[in-house]
Amino acid sequence: MNLKIKDTFNKELPADPNRNNTRRQVEEACFSFVAPRLPGNPQLLHVSDEMISNIGLQQDDKETKDFLEVFSGAQVLDGTDPYAMCYGGHQFGHWAGQLGDGRAINLMEVEHQDKRWALQLKGSGATPYSRTADGLAVLRSSIREHLCSEAMFHLNVPTTRSLSLCLTGDEVMRDMLYDGNAAYEKGAVVCRVAPSFIRFGNFQIFASRGDTANLKILADYTIKHFFPEIKSTGKEKYLAFFKAVLDRTLEMIVHWQRVGFVHGVMNTDNLSILGLTIDYGPYGWLEPYDHDWTPNTTDAQNRRYRFGNQPSVALWNLYQLANTLFPLIEEKDGLEAALEGYKSNFSKKYTEMMKTKIGLFDLNEHMAAEDAKLLQSLEETLGLTETDMTIFFRLLGNIEKTGMSPEANFNILKDAFYKPEALEGEVFIAWMSWMKSYLTRLASESLTDAERKEKMSLVNPKYVLRNYMAQLAIDAADQGDYQIIEELYQLLKKPYAEQPEKAKWFAKRPEWARDKVGCSMLSCSS
Ligand code: AMP
Ligand code: MG
Repeated sequence: MNLKIKDTFNKELPADPNRNNTRRQVEEACFSFVAPRLPGNPQLLHVSDEMISNIGLQQDDKETKDFLEVFSGAQVLDGTDPYAMCYGGHQFGHWAGQLGDGRAINLMEVEHQDKRWALQLKGSGATPYSRTADGLAVLRSSIREHLCSEAMFHLNVPTTRSLSLCLTGDEVMRDMLYDGNAAYEKGAVVCRVAPSFIRFGNFQIFASRGDTANLKILADYTIKHFFPEIKSTGKEKYLAFFKAVLDRTLEMIVHWQRVGFVHGVMNTDNLSILGLTIDYGPYGWLEPYDHDWTPNTTDAQNRRYRFGNQPSVALWNLYQLANTLFPLIEEKDGLEAALEGYKSNFSKKYTEMMKTKIGLFDLNEHMAAEDAKLLQSLEETLGLTETDMTIFFRLLGNIEKTGMSPEANFNILKDAFYKPEALEGEVFIAWMSWMKSYLTRLASESLTDAERKEKMSLVNPKYVLRNYMAQLAIDAADQGDYQIIEELYQLLKKPYAEQPEKAKWFAKRPEWARDKVGCSMLSCSS
């Protein structure tokens, strides 16, 4: 294996001088050195061929003993010094103190084609930050993380990536639903890949301890490596940094809302400073279009992280980041202005995005009010009866703006409804009314039906990793069959392509998955 190793995080930032792997509070340091745990009997289950090339490896490298050993944690490459990061965070709205990489171990950073990639194992054993937990991960959550990271990338959503998925050969005890029924599950390790895994929480931990010196060191490091476009100095530099993080976060959330992704645990330790989707845990995909939906049973009561709340939770998290960076800026006006801009900016970008989802591509500024109304009434109508988000928007591309009645056009959308029998009376009238306004609006668009359809199919995916699809891959893998993992991986590489031979995955959630654990109910236990 020929990797161009170029470590910076563990070379340029302050290290914890204690090299013992004991759980503790770590102060005045960005990380602690710690080696991955030796897996009992590692087995490579799946590899992202794209990530192999991205990090500068050859496809045959995945067949080697070194590959299996390094990416399962059995071997530490010469010239590398693995470590776990120190960070804190607000969990479900409350400051939780030091958290850190409790089960993630950063192996190294590599450079390839002018890109920097940090490689990190998740599930390879305890670290000084493991608190009371075991540092391990189970197969089901590792499959979910591996597949979804790659799927999100191909949906054009900013995300961390995943190189590989290994079984460790060890057993891990988990109480999946936190209901007292703990059981052994297969242990697994995923190798995650991103330019960096720094989170809001890496900054928060220093600010919470009044350690402005290290806060500044970390901010300088982050700006130098990941925000090279920031040329200002002094306080201006940190304000520019905050604004850039805000913009990237906002951008990411607009994408989540576009594809119907619900993260599930948007704690500040789970928000990447690079605006990447990170930490795939009890996430889920919106099936019936419902702003109140959350996949995370741990959050079922307050639904803090429900689909429709993601934009405002991101803002809440950005407020925390603003407080964190304040000691480096010491003036609140710029921070406040940026935070205040978020709402209007978000709403502008959200509307622009939603307009593309319904195929309005012309710049018709004078129709802004009318378009907002059309979108609002669509959101309301979608909520009248269970309507599959992905299928609805994808089929909407087939609407014909002339020559077809509203009824005939509406028929095109029928497959998106979970209860077709509910499409009568007031619900039907509401849909007809929306369809008529929509057809009138489409008439003023310059694109032909075919052109519009083509553009819409680049924003409305045909295939997403529906919750039940991941579960099918998990159930098969539990039985030693890893075919579905590869099948879904290949399918989700081209989520916007028709792939007619794979159309069985372009279907509503089956009824058996409606209330099934793993499909509609997920907990943080992973
Ligand atoms: P999460 O909400 O899953 O992002 O995790 C919150 C914190 O708990 C992070 O510091 C994780 O590293 C840590 N954590 C989660 N699961 C484990 C585990 N099995 N062992 C050790 N630490 C964990
Ligand atoms: Mg996390």
